[in-house]
Amino acid sequence: MKAAVWRGHKDVVVMDAEEPQVTSGTVKIKVEWAGICGTDRHEYAGPVFLPVNKPHRLTGRRTPLILGHEYTGEIVEIAADVTGWKEGTRVCCSGTLCCGTCSACLKNRSNVCEKLGFTGVSTDGAFAEYVVVPVYQLYEMPEGLDMRTTILAEPLACGQHAVNLLGGVKGETVLINGSGIIGLSAFLACSIGGAKQVFVSGWGEEKRRFVEPWGGVYIDVSTEEGRARLASCRVDVAFECVGLESTLRSAVDALLPTGKLMVMGVFEKDPVFPMNFFQEGERTLYTSQAYLDEIGAVMRFMAEERYPKDLASLITAEIALEDIVEMGFEELERNAAKHAKVAVRIGGAR
Ligand SMILES: [Zn+2]
Ligand SMILES: [Zn+2]
Repeated sequence: MKAAVWRGHKDVVVMDAEEPQVTSGTVKIKVEWAGICGTDRHEYAGPVFLPVNKPHRLTGRRTPLILGHEYTGEIVEIAADVTGWKEGTRVCCSGTLCCGTCSACLKNRSNVCEKLGFTGVSTDGAFAEYVVVPVYQLYEMPEGLDMRTTILAEPLACGQHAVNLLGGVKGETVLINGSGIIGLSAFLACSIGGAKQVFVSGWGEEKRRFVEPWGGVYIDVSTEEGRARLASCRVDVAFECVGLESTLRSAVDALLPTGKLMVMGVFEKDPVFPMNFFQEGERTLYTSQAYLDEIGAVMRFMAEERYPKDLASLITAEIALEDIVEMGFEELERNAAKHAKVAVRIGGAR
């Protein structure tokens, strides 16, 4: 089968790979559409989390590996010991892999498993004609959703999980620092969760077209005026979705007393944290990692048309698997600000 294989730093090749076989507790999926995630991009230019030197603690796998964890497809084969799933079922899958036995897994918090792994990072992923995954990753797609748009369910689940951890944001004012797909996913989760007002800050004008027509207030922090506007923001909840000390700081500075900070960004270097400011205002720090079963909820919200009608416009490019390096990873290195989600056509059924 054709697959995009990570072999080394900036060395991803679309090549013939061996078709994966089902093992106990898994199904085989014919992949139709896949999205390129920030993680994939970082691994392309990395490695960051890919197990290069020693086998992954959960999967035992090492590079070379097939990337890709945001995808939709159809079940084509089921292991003999799997019940409750049928061939032909259209699915969108979670990307997290867990051990099932650690303290987090036993508390039903498998997204923070002590041995946490990811499809397409810790084992072979979905930039391929077929992928084999454990059944606990499967979510059946509701009738009426198309497989191209539904690749957004995985990133949207990240924002939804963060809002769930906060206990909702109904009636609150919110600032979201970052307008990449994670910032936009937090924005959409806050919007459909009934936030009173949501400000989204980002660099440049590219993302205004998603935020303002969808009811938010966009702040372009590449301008003096935008930075002044951000500095005057006072909110109940602030999201950090970038992973920089400056965006963390401006999120913290915006917090009213009793405010909540939600950190979703991943930091290259541990930032300085203003603990006294938190203590004196009884502010709270929250963090969010991936998602639990929010992919199912997000697909339900899609089917109920709770998101903006033109949600699919978040897919800013559609490319073939053969072109994933030049028109995917390299394009995102050059023009990250232009894109929200690049969709990779694999089977291509709708
Ligand atoms: Zn992702
Ligand atoms: Zn575990």
